[in-house]
Amino acid sequence: MQDSTPGWLAARKERLGNFVWCSGAQCSVGEWSAKAEERGWQRRGTGWLCVQCADAAEERAELVAAMPATVELSDGIVTLTGWSLTELAPDYYGNSHLQIGGWLPEGWEPCLIAQGTNHMVRATLPGISDVAQGVNVTVETKGYGEPQRFMKIQWPSGNGGAR
Ligand SMILES: [Zn+2]
Repeated sequence: MQDSTPGWLAARKERLGNFVWCSGAQCSVGEWSAKAEERGWQRRGTGWLCVQCADAAEERAELVAAMPATVELSDGIVTLTGWSLTELAPDYYGNSHLQIGGWLPEGWEPCLIAQGTNHMVRATLPGISDVAQGVNVTVETKGYGEPQRFMKIQWPSGNGGAR
């Protein structure tokens, strides 16, 4: 019986990784980390989502993204469609940033909103209740040769974004 050698358990652990739990709310499904990906689990930040929760999260994200987001900046209000809220990878100094990206209405005049440094009074994102308010942001608008322009609004996450 090769399998009863002392190294067997360690080898098995190496193959399977750690046992991980689904981070979906009210979900208690578990899986070995080495098997999770091939079984359709998805990484979410530092955690994992099981197949069912990952599907539900995607459906919800699609549904929510279909509703426009409204962002009030110091010099006007913009409406963004096909938007997403993402956490960007930490920069050189280890500061994390959040970003809202979305499509502006067709024919929107780029000069209406100051690019670069701006101030976000508030953001109304369907399905997301705790978006930062009253933070200094960086605004960037790109054309990509499409009739609609894409806007990115970025601010440091954590400490309310005050700088
Ligand atoms: Zn789950």
